[in-house]
Amino acid sequence: MNDLEGLKEQALKELESVKSSEELQQVKAKYLGRKGILTTALKKIKEIPPEERRDYGRRVNELKSLIEEKLREKEEEVRRRELEEELSKEWVDLTIPLKNTVGSLHPLTLTLERIVDIFTGMGFKVEEGPEIELEEYNFDRLNIPEDHPARDMQDTFYVSKPGYLLRTHTSPVQIRTMLRQEPPIQIIAPGKVYRRDDDPTHSPMFHQVEGLVVNEYASFRHMKYVIEEFLREFFQTDLPVRFRTSYFPFTEPSAEVDIGCVICSQEGCRVCKETGWLEVMGCGMVHPAVLENCGIDTEIYQGFAFGMGVERLAMLLFGIDNIKLFYENDIRFIRQF
Ligand SMILES: [Zn+2]
Repeated sequence: MNDLEGLKEQALKELESVKSSEELQQVKAKYLGRKGILTTALKKIKEIPPEERRDYGRRVNELKSLIEEKLREKEEEVRRRELEEELSKEWVDLTIPLKNTVGSLHPLTLTLERIVDIFTGMGFKVEEGPEIELEEYNFDRLNIPEDHPARDMQDTFYVSKPGYLLRTHTSPVQIRTMLRQEPPIQIIAPGKVYRRDDDPTHSPMFHQVEGLVVNEYASFRHMKYVIEEFLREFFQTDLPVRFRTSYFPFTEPSAEVDIGCVICSQEGCRVCKETGWLEVMGCGMVHPAVLENCGIDTEIYQGFAFGMGVERLAMLLFGIDNIKLFYENDIRFIRQF
């Protein structure tokens, strides 16, 4: 019995001097652990004379509860002190002047913002859509037939769910807009697209901006004006622009747009392959089949559409010759913009 009194004093004294959670754990194990003093004391009950056992058991359990309670209090105290210590160590001196830590926008973000600004200034609205897209919206409704090479596994990333893919262009946003909204429509669709391409000028993921205008009077001439205005505004120079006939399943007639080489001013260089011209965009009058696929009355409405690669335009604007530089995020590169 006197042993228990002494044990109590000893335990409380040890607990009082605890300074860290490590020490706390040690004390806890010493008294309450599987081989701890109190656990052992309870086992000793067999050696106690029978008439004293009951009293002995009660007192050991009381002591156990007391130690448990003190441990909880101490734990709280220690945790609070340790947190305070940690916080005081991690103190940051806000008066130290910062060097070279001001961030800047990524060149692709800058280019995208520049494109979006110009078109919204011309009255275009921005529309967005999902990057995992229905095959139906990415191909079928755009008049891209089942056997078209673009559908090939070699060009398109399909996802495991049948009927879905990673969109290969932002054109499905045009489909979604036409299905949802009656003309007049005047939108641009910026966003990420995916193709199985990988070389210094192609990346499996890149950015596109497409435009779509559908109303009662949309014409090739109107489209030509919009595109020329955009390109001169984008490059901030009165550069020559030419339209070459081309073919896309979703436009008729279709054209590709060239600008006079901004690198060599049409003298001829490596970038323009000595031709003096750079292809920057595809465009055309929306194929009536595409409008009809979206429930638009082609007796009343017609439309034009155009699409451009953001990386391509950014490379020309900033004079960058490798598309990979955009994604490596090397701070020495990023910092220049
Ligand atoms: Zn050139």
